[in-house]
Amino acid sequence: MPPSIDPPRHPSAPTLHRDPLAARFVFLAPQRAERPSDLGGDAGGSCGPRLDGCPFCAGHEHRTPPAVLRAPADEATPWRSRIVPNRYPVVHEGPPLRGDPSPQDHDDGSVDPSEAMRRPARGVHDVVVEAARHLTTILAIEPAAWREVWHLCRQRLACLADRGDVAWATVFKNSGSAAGASLEHVHSQLVGLDFVPPVVRAELAAAADDAAGYRRLVDDARTSGRVVAEAGRLVAIVPPAPRQPLETCILPTVPAAHFHAAEPADVAALADLTRLVVARLDGVAPGANYNWWLHQAPFAGHGEPVPGWHWHLEILPRLASFAGFEFATGCHISTLPPAEAAAMLRGG
Ligand SMILES: [Zn+2]
Ligand SMILES: [Zn+2]
Repeated sequence: MPPSIDPPRHPSAPTLHRDPLAARFVFLAPQRAERPSDLGGDAGGSCGPRLDGCPFCAGHEHRTPPAVLRAPADEATPWRSRIVPNRYPVVHEGPPLRGDPSPQDHDDGSVDPSEAMRRPARGVHDVVVEAARHLTTILAIEPAAWREVWHLCRQRLACLADRGDVAWATVFKNSGSAAGASLEHVHSQLVGLDFVPPVVRAELAAAADDAAGYRRLVDDARTSGRVVAEAGRLVAIVPPAPRQPLETCILPTVPAAHFHAAEPADVAALADLTRLVVARLDGVAPGANYNWWLHQAPFAGHGEPVPGWHWHLEILPRLASFAGFEFATGCHISTLPPAEAAAMLRGG
């Protein structure tokens, strides 16, 4: 058995840090610096060794921890996609934290909000290996197998929802080194946290203040020419204030808090729309790196339900750098009007 599933050399478990004056959370995970890479560029901060063979290819299963889910489920059949624990996680599993401040506590005043926080970073961090062959774009995956990947992600999220110790979870993709990927084999990541992160809490608060906000988002996209494509009950739009040229958002046209509770037809529609959007993006900006991430509501028992909330997938091409203005202000500068971007992505 090759030694490659030994624990990383760095002994530090990841920790969660909060800077109270900057209202900023940072996951400190020193062992991630040892991640191997087969991509050039920054690779998300990886400065680990160049990779000797791909750990995600079929035949190299011994180089990752055992799968928690696979497709097909029948182990007698070769796998087409699989979910494995991340060898270099930003969070780690452990007993529930008792007596440690949680990020939520700071809002209700039960913990001094001026207090800096440092505590174990708890949660789940998986890798979704999206193909058994060494493919480098989702466009090379057969459409049926790509739908299977999204069904697998939904299933894993549903497992996390049932655990009770995970407050919120996401699936995200870094495609290309400019988007933070360190390995080129098609994959995404699935992270569950024991708290609801600030970006999602801000989106929930906005939706709580405006129950019709998501419906209007879709209606306005229709009337202002920002719909890129539709599939079943899902729509892909260019949002009203895209941070990058050709940014898109895929969401259901009816309220739905959790992707993990989505009907099979909606899961398939998400697979079809992600494929279509990436294909159109690649047509307009060949080889564009991009990120995407799923935003869904916190799991039951971890916050008040917000009627009118729609889970959504944000797809952010990395065509321009984030620069000083973005860091200084929290605002973004883009150069392409959203309706023009949508027309380009429609192919019209
Ligand atoms: Zn590979
Ligand atoms: Zn969002």
